[in-house]
Amino acid sequence: GSVVGIMGGGQLGRMLAVAAAQIGYRTHIFAPEADGVAHEVASASTIAAYDDEMALAGFANGCSVITYEFENVPVDAVRFLQPHRACFPSAKALSVAQDRVAEKSFARDLGVPVADFAEVRSEADLNAALASIGSPAILKTATEGYDGKGQARITDPTLGMAAWESIGHGRAVLERMVRFDGEFSVILARSTHGETVFWNCPENIHADGILSRSLVPARPEIARHAEAAVGHALRIADALDYVGVLACEFFATADGPLFNEMAPRVHNSGHWTIEGAVTSQFENHIRAICGLPLGATTLTGASVEMHNIIGADVDRWQHFLSDKTCRLHLYGKGHGRAGRKMGHATWVSQGSGAA
Ligand code: ATP
Ligand code: MG
Ligand code: MG
Repeated sequence: GSVVGIMGGGQLGRMLAVAAAQIGYRTHIFAPEADGVAHEVASASTIAAYDDEMALAGFANGCSVITYEFENVPVDAVRFLQPHRACFPSAKALSVAQDRVAEKSFARDLGVPVADFAEVRSEADLNAALASIGSPAILKTATEGYDGKGQARITDPTLGMAAWESIGHGRAVLERMVRFDGEFSVILARSTHGETVFWNCPENIHADGILSRSLVPARPEIARHAEAAVGHALRIADALDYVGVLACEFFATADGPLFNEMAPRVHNSGHWTIEGAVTSQFENHIRAICGLPLGATTLTGASVEMHNIIGADVDRWQHFLSDKTCRLHLYGKGHGRAGRKMGHATWVSQGSGAA
C-alpha cells in the first residue's frame, strides 16, 4: 500500500492520518517533538529536527508522497525533499503562506483585495507606515504568528515603537484595522489533476485571537460575500498551481471581502466537514495529493456548528458526550493547557426551522 508522509505531529496530522487510513493509505509522521498527537494514530513516525538531512532522506524513501500539517515547516526541508519525492503543496506555496508580506503582496498582485499594509524592518519604516496607514492599526510579526500571537494593536501613533518591541522587534507588517461585519473562510481542495472543489464558507467567530466557533451556513450578511471570496481563493490556488487543501481567511466588509491570510493546509474552520460534508477536508486533502478524484463537498444537513475546545474546557468532555447530537473530537493532548486547542465538537442539524 501507499504511504503518505506528513510533516508535523499535531491534531491536523492526526485527523489527516485517520482520513488516510479510511481510504487505505498508511501514514508516516515526521516531527521534531516525540509527544505529538498524530504519531499514535499513524503507521510510523520519525522524530527528528526539520534540518536533519539523514532523517529527511530516510523519510522520503519510506513515503509515496509528502505533505504538511504545519505551515512553518522550513522551506529548505521541502527543497531538500522535493528531488526525492513529490511534496504538496509546493515549496512556492509554502513560502508565500509563511510570510505575511509575501502573502498579502501575492494576493494584491492577483487583484485580490487586502487591507492596506506595509512592511516594517526599521523604526523609519514603522513611522512611514503609521503615517500612511494611520491608526488604529495592527502590527504583526511577518512570520510564525498564529492564534493571534505576535500581534499588537496600535491605537495611537506614539505607541508604535512600544508595540513593535512587544512583538520582538523583528520583521513585521503594519495593517489597517479593518471594520468588518464578520469573518469567514474559503476552504478548497485542488488535486494534482487541477480538479478543484470548495466547501460552503464557514463564518468564523474568534475569542482572544483564537478561533472559537465556525457556523455553516454563514449569516446572510456574511454569506453574500462568499461567491466573490471563492473567486479570489480560486485565483490564488490557480496562480500557485496549488495541490491539496487551501484555506483563505476573509473579512466581510461594506466594500466586499478582504483577504486576510491563507493556510497551506487543512484548517480549523474546516473541521465541521468531518460530519457536516459528504467528504471532509482531510479526506479530500489526501485524495488531492494522491491524484485521486475528489469527493463531493455537499452539506449533510441543513446547518453545522463547530466549537473549539480550548484549554480547561476539555474537562467538560462528559458534558459534550451527554449531548446526543454532539460529535466530540478530543486530540489526546495532556489536560488543561491554557489556550491550547484540545478538541472540538460538531453539531449537524437536519432541521429546516429557524437556526
Ligand atoms: P490564525 O490562528 O488564524 O492563523 P493569526 O495569528 O495568523 O491567526 P490573523 O488571522 O491575521 O492572525 O489575526 C487573528 C485575528 O485578529 C483575525 O481573525 C481578526 O479577528 C483579527 N485581525 C487580524 N488582522 C486584523 C485587521 N487588519 N483588522 C481587524 N482585525 C484583525
Ligand atoms: Mg495565521
Ligand atoms: Mg487567521
